[in-house]
Amino acid sequence: MSFDNFSLHPNILEAVAEAGYSEPTKVQLNVIPKIMKGFDIRASAHTGTGKTAAFLLPALHRLSDPSKKAGHGPRILILVPTRELAMQITTQAEKYSKYMRGVKTVCVVGGVPYHAQMRKLSRPYDILVATPGRLIDYIDRRKMDFSRLETLVLDEADRMLDMGFSESVEQIVKATPPSRQTLLFSATLQGSVIKLSERLMDKPMEIIVHGGQAKPDNIIQKLHYVDNLHHKNRLLDHILNEDDVDYAIVFTSTKRHASQLVMELQEKGYQAAALHGDMNQRQRTRTITQLRNGKIKVLVATDVAARGIDVQSITHVINFDLPNSAEDYVHRIGRTGRAGAKGTALSFAAGHDAFMLQKIEKFTGQRIEIAEIAGLEPRAKQRPSPRSKRPHSRPGANRRFDSRAKSPKGRVSRPRKARA
Ligand code: ADP
Ligand code: MG
Repeated sequence: MSFDNFSLHPNILEAVAEAGYSEPTKVQLNVIPKIMKGFDIRASAHTGTGKTAAFLLPALHRLSDPSKKAGHGPRILILVPTRELAMQITTQAEKYSKYMRGVKTVCVVGGVPYHAQMRKLSRPYDILVATPGRLIDYIDRRKMDFSRLETLVLDEADRMLDMGFSESVEQIVKATPPSRQTLLFSATLQGSVIKLSERLMDKPMEIIVHGGQAKPDNIIQKLHYVDNLHHKNRLLDHILNEDDVDYAIVFTSTKRHASQLVMELQEKGYQAAALHGDMNQRQRTRTITQLRNGKIKVLVATDVAARGIDVQSITHVINFDLPNSAEDYVHRIGRTGRAGAKGTALSFAAGHDAFMLQKIEKFTGQRIEIAEIAGLEPRAKQRPSPRSKRPHSRPGANRRFDSRAKSPKGRVSRPRKARA
């Protein structure tokens, strides 16, 4: 199956060929024909599986016919949770539309001055990629004209809701014409995302692409048990010095610790930089560009800031601290192994992380292998989670720390059924 089988406009196919995509990914195969038929879609697929092109290509195809309405507002609106993601989607939109005459993309995000954005919005354009907060500003100032809008995309809808954008998203959607086609993409389709889609979409068709290539099978996952912060620092230093580590993203749970860790790494001679929500947009963009150009080898990031980073050279993701949710874990490790490349994800965990580890393994349907580095083994034998009063009573919860469950090599070997 090739892209030529979709009846996409030849100018789009030319750009896709130039991007080097030989065949559509699973989610693209499933979603593109349905979008072209005009259905409202809500879809979920793992991170890094090409969802952006899955909605951009058919949406662009509609632009090959001139708009039937007057006005100069966008014909495609893509709402995303973070600035980084907005900019990456803007780049992809420009890439896929480069041979379509006169198609222009504008990106509207917070943290940048208003006047330059206003100037862009005052000229005719076709595609608008925006974060909800800043777009609401423009709607409130009556600067937006959605009369030509044909396609509305909500990308990473679960994260937009997590970040508290629910009301803004609804307000924005209500400002668009009811005749629009609405497409919703999300890492997970549950509870509040489904409810949102029921409110905003017209009999949405649901497409869930899991399994097969969609699972992060190309990412090796490992777990290092740690005694304390000092142990984490020594492990990190050792790992970053290994030959196969070209570019790494290290996740910490707080912005403050991210900044501090960067200073420590720089003192040790690493080309390290931080990426977190306290940085302004210029700093964040510059940091990602430096990572792309190879000027930075180690990026220390928090969850929100790193969402959507698509830098193909990342060989390692290191969870210095575990995330607060299994979904975040999948998003973090998805920063490596982009577009089917190989990647490694290492997590540092202590005894009290048992519950989160269990949640992560249940969510991914994959067991994380335990690794030890000679000379840097954890001193303390892993204890059951202090949160559980009766350590071995909850099935599975503490088995990782149960020496009886260990194989001779010291690895937990428990049978596990793959998730359907
Ligand atoms: P997602 O939104 O599902 O997390 P992206 O849309 O960001 O994933 O795509 C991940 C990477 O895969 C991007 O670098 C993109 O250029 C690349 N990609 C997308 N479609 C294809 C394809 N058909 N063949 C090869 N690479 C692709
Ligand atoms: Mg995406």
